Amino acid sequence: MIRLLLIGAPGAGKGTQAERLAQAFEIPAISTGDIFRHNVKNETELGKQAKAFMDRGEYVPDSLTNALVRDRLSHADAIEGFLLDGYPRTADQVVELDDILAAQGNKLDVVVQLTADTDEVVRRLLNRALEQGRADDTEDVIRRRLEVYEEQTAPLTSTYADRGLVVMIDGLGEVAEVSGRILEALAARGFSPKR
Ligand code: AMP
Repeated sequence: MIRLLLIGAPGAGKGTQAERLAQAFEIPAISTGDIFRHNVKNETELGKQAKAFMDRGEYVPDSLTNALVRDRLSHADAIEGFLLDGYPRTADQVVELDDILAAQGNKLDVVVQLTADTDEVVRRLLNRALEQGRADDTEDVIRRRLEVYEEQTAPLTSTYADRGLVVMIDGLGEVAEVSGRILEALAARGFSPKR
């Protein structure tokens, strides 16, 4: 059982690694970005509200994002463990997550910080734009997303580092290579996958 966060700049490889880790530990990978995109696609009320922010590369307001995560973490499959990909991203979201977990009598085990240099993440995101056609993968929006990440999310690393939760992982290299680094770091902290 493990409760972990994956933090890193857009394009650092969070989504790819989240899927692999979730499989290995048999826990749900919860991506707020994926949940928002699903809602946008289905034109739900939440999707309509989130879309304008996402299209500009801005964060969706904390009130909407926090409510979504509070609901998702209350589902049975997330009670025994989970991986959060792309949440929390603001100081307010850190407080909310602490509150949700405290109410369950649970706590975070590890925060995996995936690092990658800016040139590399921009290259990856532009590539993804060609492959997947995501609306927020245009060059201007990518630049804004990186700025917002630096302003609002990068500082969260020190909050979690103060709690002794952070492992820094070099996100450059082959997918399997990066997964190997993460699994090694988690094993060193006493967390080994089920398979
Ligand atoms: P992602 O797929 O994680 O890059 O997220 C795509 C977009 O969804 C972001 O650029 C934000 O607009 C929105 N989003 C995802 N997660 C969050 C979050 N934790 N807080 C605010 N907005 C978010």
